[in-house]
Amino acid sequence: DIIPKSNFFSVFDRNFSSPSASDSNIIRATLFPGDGIGPEIAESVKTVFRTADVPIEWEEHYVGKEIDPRTQSFLTWESLESVRLNKVGLKGPMATPIGKGHRSLNLTLRKELNLYANVRPCYSLPGYKTRYDDVDLITIRENTEGEYSGLEHQVVRGVVESLKIITRQASLRVAEYAFHYAKAHGRERVSAIHKANIMQKTDGLFLKCCREVAEKYPEITYEEVVIDNCCMMLVKNPALFDVLVMPNLYGDIISDLCAGLIGGLGLTPSCNIGEGGIALAEAVHGSAPDIAGKNLANPTALLLSAVTMLRHLKLQDKAERIQDAILNTIAEGKYRTADLGGSSSTTDFTKAICDHL
Ligand code: NAD
Repeated sequence: DIIPKSNFFSVFDRNFSSPSASDSNIIRATLFPGDGIGPEIAESVKTVFRTADVPIEWEEHYVGKEIDPRTQSFLTWESLESVRLNKVGLKGPMATPIGKGHRSLNLTLRKELNLYANVRPCYSLPGYKTRYDDVDLITIRENTEGEYSGLEHQVVRGVVESLKIITRQASLRVAEYAFHYAKAHGRERVSAIHKANIMQKTDGLFLKCCREVAEKYPEITYEEVVIDNCCMMLVKNPALFDVLVMPNLYGDIISDLCAGLIGGLGLTPSCNIGEGGIALAEAVHGSAPDIAGKNLANPTALLLSAVTMLRHLKLQDKAERIQDAILNTIAEGKYRTADLGGSSSTTDFTKAICDHL
């Protein structure tokens, strides 16, 4: 089925038919409130879901206080098992603890759960004015390798080395996801973003895989854009782009740039797609330690991420209702958080969304 373009927050896994509310009345989903502003914005999602009668039972897991030897990180084995079992979850931001002997929490999740694609929609919000009113693009980020493989070491004193790993398997998998996503959502163009002129072997292999997949989708226009030029084009005219697919590090950077085009990190959702049908939604932003615990955070990004989760679960009516309430609250302008120029607290803004349901 072609999913209408306006359903820009929808995600899906090509290998998996997600559970739907009709299969059972209550769906269990894993919730990681996370660090910093995470617990405040997770509370906002719980409040909105409760008010909208969403049939979800949250299984909450917190970041552990000690390293779990089975995961080599502060994430417990039980929390990973919960996502594996439920296949669907929502994740707050996780700060990377500074220290040695353990893996980054986000890296652990992506690797252990094989979350191979991170889908990051970015869309001009109706009624919230920025320099552009026509941003409508999807960044699809390879999520398991590249510079984020965690392979760094000191060669000799004063010289360090960091390995960028690109594999044919992971590149084909994310390219296939991007083209399939484009086709299913009635989108016309896929742009592969790269720096293959310099990173000839790694980005070269990534592009080769994208080209191979592009041949299977003649109805989708395929192009290749060098990352620096892509940044310039995005800032000058974001309407030039539709679906963008790229290696890990570039996706991390480009999606923050895209967030800036529509009003900031408080607004942009994402969803991680894993093999075997796992969908773990999360905001693009981090734990925002500068505003944590102050009731100032904008919960929109996590709420819209939760909407992607509802669409994945085929709870379309609930997704539509919550999305409309969020967008109408922002468009009305009476209640907005500080990052959008308003003076509402997280809880007041959340209450306003509930009143719009
Ligand atoms: P950040 O995204 O946390 O914050 C960047 C800026 O955006 C800050 O000024 C912050 O106040 C603002 N901001 C972010 N989210 C906001 C929201 N919802 N409402 C209002 N303002 C918001 O980036 P950072 O400061 O570079 O990173 C902080 C920590 O988060 C680090 O430990 C980093 O490793 C981690 N991080 C985690 C994730 C993740 O869990 N996926 C992603 C990025 C960063």
